[in-house]
Amino acid sequence: MRGLVYEGPWKVGLAECPAPGAPTGGEVLVRIAATGICGTDLGIIMGACEAKVPVVLGHESAGEVVAVGDRVRSLAPGTRVVIDPTFYCGFCPMCRTDRPNHCEHKGDTETGVSRDGTFAPYYKTEERFLYPLAPHVSFEAGSLVEPLSCALTGADRLRARPDMRTLIFGAGPLGILYSHALACRGLGGALVEVSAARRARAATVAAAGWRITGSAEEALEDAFGRPTAEVDVIVDTTGVMVEKGVGLLARGGQLLTIGLRRSPCTIDALRLAERSLSLIGSVDSLGTFASAMHLIESGRVPAERMVTHRFALDDYREAFLRLGCDLDQRTYSAGAEAMKVVLQPA
Ligand SMILES: [Zn+2]
Ligand SMILES: [Zn+2]
Repeated sequence: MRGLVYEGPWKVGLAECPAPGAPTGGEVLVRIAATGICGTDLGIIMGACEAKVPVVLGHESAGEVVAVGDRVRSLAPGTRVVIDPTFYCGFCPMCRTDRPNHCEHKGDTETGVSRDGTFAPYYKTEERFLYPLAPHVSFEAGSLVEPLSCALTGADRLRARPDMRTLIFGAGPLGILYSHALACRGLGGALVEVSAARRARAATVAAAGWRITGSAEEALEDAFGRPTAEVDVIVDTTGVMVEKGVGLLARGGQLLTIGLRRSPCTIDALRLAERSLSLIGSVDSLGTFASAMHLIESGRVPAERMVTHRFALDDYREAFLRLGCDLDQRTYSAGAEAMKVVLQPA
């Protein structure tokens, strides 16, 4: 079969790759109907995020079961499913202390990063990593369950109170999903996005109680009903606003950073200590997949409307271009108008 193979920074293209064999035991073979392009994919392609070479990219997926091993009980051929792409063994010290998102075997099992992913027509996984998808939800919307589950996990790491002044940096898909994840915990505030095109899109899909602003300064001036110089919670989805964010935190403030790209910055340890600040990271999802399924299936998160572009796998160059990533020119420009761009491999 043909998949989208990464062979080094800016070296990505359709290539022949091994098709997964017939499933045995608890394994399930899935035909991939939709895989969303994630910021992590862009980071890998640009060389800002590490991946195995070569590897088939792609990890935010939904599809249909085509075959099951003899120990599979809950799924049958034809079942529509969403894939949890983050493998965990269940037995290592991290898994046995409730941290399977840091499973010690993840280094060579992470879908689309260290193990062949889902920008390909077929993918084999285990029954325990699949969630049946309600018939009224499209595969494309289903592909947003994984990033939403990551946002819910990040939100779980914050001590949240509804009166906290909150900023989200970046109004791409993750910023929008974070507005919903935080709204579930009673938080509202401002999404800060430099791209006017993205601000316009964000206004139609962000959670209620969230304003869209062009700069942090603008948000401080009017997003909280009164001018303020500081905020209590910041979520940086861009990975490059940590330094600026720390400078905006009020005493006791919390900054959550989730952008998966290398971005060194300088932080004054004195400021962290004397203001009792918390700097928090979060990766992948931890017990939040079922909640993410519920929020999308119930329509509380407008996943269908967040998917702005769909492309056949063959048209991947055009798809990446819609996100500002020009694979021919090897250039990237942030702030594309597109929200979620989905490839349809099968
Ligand atoms: Zn992702
Ligand atoms: Zn483990």
